[in-house]
Amino acid sequence: MNIASVIVDVPAKQTDRPFDYLIPDSLVEIIKPGMRVTVPFGPRKIQGFVVELKSASSFKQLKKIIEPMDLSPILSNEMLSLGDWLSKQTLSYKISAYQAMLPAALKAKYEKYIKLSAGTSPENLSPEVQALFLKSSKITWDEAKASDKLHALQKEASSGSVEIVYEVKERVKKKKLKSVYAGMNAEELKEYRQSLSAQARKQADVIDYFIKDNKPSIIRDLAKELNISSAVIKELVKKGVLIEDEMEIYRDPFENRQFERTEALLLTAEQENAIAPILQSIEDIRNEVFLLYGVTGSGKTEIYLQSIQKVINAGKEAIVLVPEISLTPQMVKRFKGRFGNEVAVMHSGLSAGEKYDEWRKIQRKEVSVVVGARSAIFAPFENLGIIIIDEEHETSYKQEENPKYHARDVAIKRAEGSNCPVILGSATPSLESFARAKKGVYHLLSLPKRMNNQALPAVEIIDMREELRGGNRSMFSVVLLEKLKERIEKKEQTVLFLNKRGHSSFVMCRDCGYVAGCPNCDISLTYHRYNQQMKCHYCGYEESVPAICRECGSEHIRYFGTGTQKVEEELHKVLPEARVIRMDIDTTSRKGSHEKLLDQFQEGHADILLGTQMIAKGLDFPNITLVGVLSADTMLHLPDFRSSEKTFQLLTQVSGRAGRHELPGEVIIQTYSPEHYSIGLSALQDFDRFYEQEMMIRKVHKYPPFYYIALVTVSHEQLMKSVSVTEKITSYVQSKLSKDAIVLGPVASPIPRINNRYRYQCLIKYKREPGLQSALKIILDQYQQEIASNGLQIAVDVNPYILM
Ligand code: ADP
Ligand code: ZN
Ligand code: ZN
Repeated sequence: MNIASVIVDVPAKQTDRPFDYLIPDSLVEIIKPGMRVTVPFGPRKIQGFVVELKSASSFKQLKKIIEPMDLSPILSNEMLSLGDWLSKQTLSYKISAYQAMLPAALKAKYEKYIKLSAGTSPENLSPEVQALFLKSSKITWDEAKASDKLHALQKEASSGSVEIVYEVKERVKKKKLKSVYAGMNAEELKEYRQSLSAQARKQADVIDYFIKDNKPSIIRDLAKELNISSAVIKELVKKGVLIEDEMEIYRDPFENRQFERTEALLLTAEQENAIAPILQSIEDIRNEVFLLYGVTGSGKTEIYLQSIQKVINAGKEAIVLVPEISLTPQMVKRFKGRFGNEVAVMHSGLSAGEKYDEWRKIQRKEVSVVVGARSAIFAPFENLGIIIIDEEHETSYKQEENPKYHARDVAIKRAEGSNCPVILGSATPSLESFARAKKGVYHLLSLPKRMNNQALPAVEIIDMREELRGGNRSMFSVVLLEKLKERIEKKEQTVLFLNKRGHSSFVMCRDCGYVAGCPNCDISLTYHRYNQQMKCHYCGYEESVPAICRECGSEHIRYFGTGTQKVEEELHKVLPEARVIRMDIDTTSRKGSHEKLLDQFQEGHADILLGTQMIAKGLDFPNITLVGVLSADTMLHLPDFRSSEKTFQLLTQVSGRAGRHELPGEVIIQTYSPEHYSIGLSALQDFDRFYEQEMMIRKVHKYPPFYYIALVTVSHEQLMKSVSVTEKITSYVQSKLSKDAIVLGPVASPIPRINNRYRYQCLIKYKREPGLQSALKIILDQYQQEIASNGLQIAVDVNPYILM
């Protein structure tokens, strides 16, 4: 076995296959599948992944592998074949698939070291490599190579005495805060304390603190803990009792936190019914997908926790995916609280180095649970016992860059290979998942009631057209304004939600609520300011903005789209006494600001929390008794067949923020389309009826889950080029598919020009088209030359969630 098949790090059609390389004698038995190696490629020296070892090659004159980049494989066999599957599914290059499965720190720009593992000293090593670590517990990779002892080091690595670590080359600026420690020993401190006057009680407290334990403390935190002002501490610094220093702050918000341990709760009868089949499937080592459908607060998380416990008891591992936005300390606390150090957490707030550390914990089998956002689905566990996806309907589980995978599909694939169950949990499942559950493809489990039978909040829908008729032109209805004032008086809190997603706006009559829609697609037309046109982004239909409403003849035709900043200004005008915290992309772009703003709100520093999507989730504060939705319609009229579904999900979720504890909650939904089923039914929290209605519409218009869709987006600097390429693609695809498939295009993308590139698209709706994958692949291959040379771009998304 001295030949290695290598996928090289050149994302291109010609290189999207394994290349054979000869393993030099010195590296035989060192090189293994799943390792990265450097190989000669043309005149260059590049990286690659070894995917297979073999003893013969059909090619002659093989080049030699230059060197290994790892001491042990970083991709297991399972991951290698998962990567293969992923690249086929998403029509992306194998190298992109492998890279997507690994933490960023494993890519270039990082210095590689070999380091003694914790608790190992050089004497524990074989004599051959001892000398390398006598001066330092860490040597660079280059030093290791130069020593010619890679083989011996690899043995040490597999026994765990040494490991590879990656350190970022550029020194990241670390966050530092002022800290103090005592410049005297305990005796001297006691003496000094004696000398203080009786009035200096606060100074005495500080000194007592350091007598007990003289370790550097951050001034700000110490002042808070002792309930004194930082001036008291500074005074002691001035007197020379304390010494001021700087302390580095960890960015990981969970790192140094102690989590109180929790015990499994006694399950309710409903929970027992729901968990029984899951536990059975764990016991039987059987692959099965469960859809756990239960309103917020119905006890789903407790079911996750107890299922994971069973998996851990069986010596296996668990992956838990939660949407990035709900990966809050509150959520993490529940998992760390139950499983302590068995849990690794992967979220975007971690630096590349920290993410790599968490990944290493998994690889080293130091943890058995990972809680993380989308990419945690690639956690390198080798003995998976369960995969859980909370809020399975969330679109953030779909990656929008290559490889354009959906974490749910990857989860199901991995679980098949591991013979383990998948739990998809949601209060508002995606139509696709619910339909599968109803057909019996997934096993449906329901938790119909909230714990303690807490009432859902009362929801009132306000017709904003009536407000206008009544002479109210502001963005707050009379009722909402009244209730806002009431809360401020009662010192209760309000969440004001501005439903704003996407960039497009729609045209609506303010008198009757009529929204201009496409005659062919039942989707609202998008308003284009620059030419006063309204357009359909599915079929290309176009017309100009009417001067008067087609329904009622009114002249109050407006296009819509309001920002949080504007709302804040209005709030200050009508409620000058209200203290408002605004949360949107502008106010939360700095790291940690999201959490800080929420803390401020929780501590009662504001009456109103005003925000967008990001405040819809995870808020669980007892003092929130009112939720106001300013504009339930904005998302409803986006050019997206999922807009009703998204509106329903979001409104249901937002409504759930009110009255979660003792105080009863109220919800006000302002809308210009009160008769729309997604708004009315979300007020009733009636998912089942929403599902029935929406399914009828999807069926009529041939959308998922009745049809699959695929989207090809073409872009080029020249408009005509985009159009003609899309034209050719459309007719080619058409010719390769059965007559049951529907191919729509060429049509301009909803965002027709980005960065001076013109974007055109072709939308394919189909049920079963075995030829589609290869047709799309052929298209990509066909245009490879132009893609490389004249700036043409072709993006294929086989299960798009963004149709822009
Ligand atoms: P969900 O995940 O569906 O929103 P949770 O699991 O968070 O629901 O449960 C809601 C609340 O009820 C939590 O505070 C949880 O601790 C509590 N809870 C869940 N199951 C039980 C139980 N069997 N007995 C008592 N309290 C429970
Ligand atoms: Zn009208
Ligand atoms: Zn249309």
